[in-house]
Order: sequence, then structure tokens, then C-alpha cells
Amino acid sequence: MAAPRRGKPPRHWLDLGRDERRDAVRELGLPAFRADQISRHVFEHLDLDPSGWTDLPAADRGRVAEAFLPSLLTSVRPLSCDGGTTLKTLWRLFDGSLIESVLMRYGVPGIRSSGSGRNRATLCISSQAGCGMACPFCATGQGGLQRNLSAAEILAQVVAGARALRDGEIPGGPGRVNNIVFMGMGEPMANFKAIMATIRTLTAPAPHGLGISARGITVSTVGLVPRINQLAEVGIPVTLAVSLHAPDDELRDELCPINTRWNVAELVDAAHRYFRLTKRRVSIEYALIRDVNDSVERAELLADVLRRDGGHGWVHVNLIPLNPTPGSKWTASRRRDEAAFVAALERRGVAVTVRDTRGREIDGACGQLAASVAAE
Ligand code: SAH
Repeated sequence: MAAPRRGKPPRHWLDLGRDERRDAVRELGLPAFRADQISRHVFEHLDLDPSGWTDLPAADRGRVAEAFLPSLLTSVRPLSCDGGTTLKTLWRLFDGSLIESVLMRYGVPGIRSSGSGRNRATLCISSQAGCGMACPFCATGQGGLQRNLSAAEILAQVVAGARALRDGEIPGGPGRVNNIVFMGMGEPMANFKAIMATIRTLTAPAPHGLGISARGITVSTVGLVPRINQLAEVGIPVTLAVSLHAPDDELRDELCPINTRWNVAELVDAAHRYFRLTKRRVSIEYALIRDVNDSVERAELLADVLRRDGGHGWVHVNLIPLNPTPGSKWTASRRRDEAAFVAALERRGVAVTVRDTRGREIDGACGQLAASVAAE
């Protein structure tokens, strides 16, 4: 049996807001200006190891490291594919929990599998160890929830990804993270406080944060309606992605059990309200599962369900070919069914794209890498 997982992760500089950082350095007996100095190392230089911070007295470096920069993530297994432009890392947390993050670089000249278009990088991060939402097609959902991640554990994934890009570890030359998606393990809306702290620090301009545009951040949810409403009211214009996967309650009850609490109509209403308040187009995620949710009838029903104010201008449907999890009875749709589904949506004026399937050979789908290592 696995060792019991107890307690909270140690406090870290990345957990703190701007005011808290000043208080924290004072508590350590350091002058308040040290706070900005530490933040510059952390957020501008992406350096979480004070031993080389020569602008800090040598005697203070150890204290700062111990008080504010405990090691949170240990890389267990990095895996790459797509010519090195997709990098997935399995991380071990202080209590042995496993999480994963995936860095995807697009538009790298000379690497066809990185796709065409602009050179940009997306980082997919985890918000919980495990997940309590129990969607039966998702590898993470099968293992249940271990615990929420702290803001620092979430942000540390970003710092690591940003550092790998900056240091030229990903083909395509030194770069930066353009997009952050909360599409790794976990249900971000079930860890709302940490997510909000994370978003604040991601978007705060340097040296107080990572200076990433809110528009480049996507929060993906299975549909915790009250939290969607709360996020809409906070007014930070992040993109909302809603994992719908079925347009009717009967099927969605099965694919996303949380639907028995907040149904399709309530969820789509909340998503549309999010659009009205933030003016951000909402993404609807829909994993295409062969002979389960991929009929033309369901595509038509999906278009009906998403119609608001007479049209679909507020929404974009993102179809994800199902990545079958080990032992699952489900698999991806046939090419012709996928094409018919897309055509049916387009006929009704719904903007739709089919997500590329990067990282498939490295257990790219949610939770698969962590599940396969935990089983070893
Ligand atoms: N809890 C959040 C984030 C989950 S992961 C949410 O539900 O939105 C991001 C997306 O991957 C979700 O849309 C999720 O439903 C989808 N997903 C999970 N397992 C998958 C699989 N095996 N194949 C395709 N998509 C999957």
C-alpha cells in the first residue's frame, strides 16, 4: 500500500501575493526591499536556487532558501516526441503524489510534426493530484482525488517550462511560454483559491509575477457552475473552456457524472454568462468517442443547445479525438464520423476545430503517464 499522504506542501515564495512577500521577509528579519530582489530572481530570472544570488549576503541565502524556496517538484520522467517539440514531465511532489505537465511548441521551422503557423509555446499544467470528477473516459478520473495543489506547486510547473524554453532546451531556439492551459490533471474549479492566486501571479507584470497575458490563459472545467459564475465576476479575462462531451443530460450524466448536479442547460447558461461578462469567446471541449457521442444527430443537438441570442458567435467547439485509456471500452471516432460531425456543426454556423493529437505516443492524454508510473 502507498504511504498515507498527509499535510500541506511547505510554504513557498510562489504561494505569496505581493503584500505577503513583504511581510514574509520582515518576519525573517530582512529589510522589505529584499522582497523585490527575491521576486526578480524568481520571476525574471526563473531562478529558484538562492545559492548563486550574489546580490544577497551569503549568510542570508540559506535562510531565504529554507524559508521561501523549498523544493516542490522533482522530475521523475521527462518524455518527448514530435521532434522534441512536445515535452511531457512527470513530477513527484513532497508527499509522493505524482502530477504531470506538458510543453508543446508549435511552428518550429524544419519540424513538421510541430505544425505550421506562428512559433508559439503552450504549457499544459495540473491543478490537483488526481481528480474527484470521475469522468470514465479520463485516466486521471479513474484514480480519484489525492489532494489540491498549492499555488506554488502549480506555478512551479510554469517556471520549469519557461526555463526550459528560455534555455533553449526545446528545438526552435530560446523562447517563452505564450499560452497556459489548465488541462493537465485535476479540476481547476475545485481548487478555486489556489487557481486564483496562480492566475494573479501569472499575469502580474515582472518583477512581481510572470507577466503572461490573461488572454493567453485557459481555465478548463467539467462544469462547476457556481465557480464559473465566480470567475466571471472576478473580471480577469482568461479564456473559459467547458468540457461538455455530450449535448443531452442522459449521455452527459454518464460521461461527466457532475452533470447530475449541474445539467447541460445550467452549464451552457453559465458559460454564456461568462461570455457576456468578459467578452471572451468560450471554448466547448468535446471528446469524440466512437459510437457513443459522435452521431450527426448529436452534432445537431449540440448546435441547438449552444445557440444563444440567435447564433453561435459566443462559442467555439474544440473536438478532441478520444485518446483511449488503458482498459477502456471506448476509442476515437472513425474519420468519416468525425468529418460528418464537423460538417453538421459547420452547416449550423458553429465555429469548430479538431484538436491535433500531439503527444499521443507519450501517454499524452490526461493522467496517463502518472497512471502508468504509479502502476509500476
Ligand atoms: N477537469 C478539467 C480539465 C481536464 S483535462 C476539465 O474537465 O475540463 C482537459 C480536457 O481533456 C477535458 O476536456 C477532458 O475531458 C479531456 N480528456 C480527458 N481524458 C481524455 C481522453 N482520454 N481523451 C480525450 N480527451 C480527454
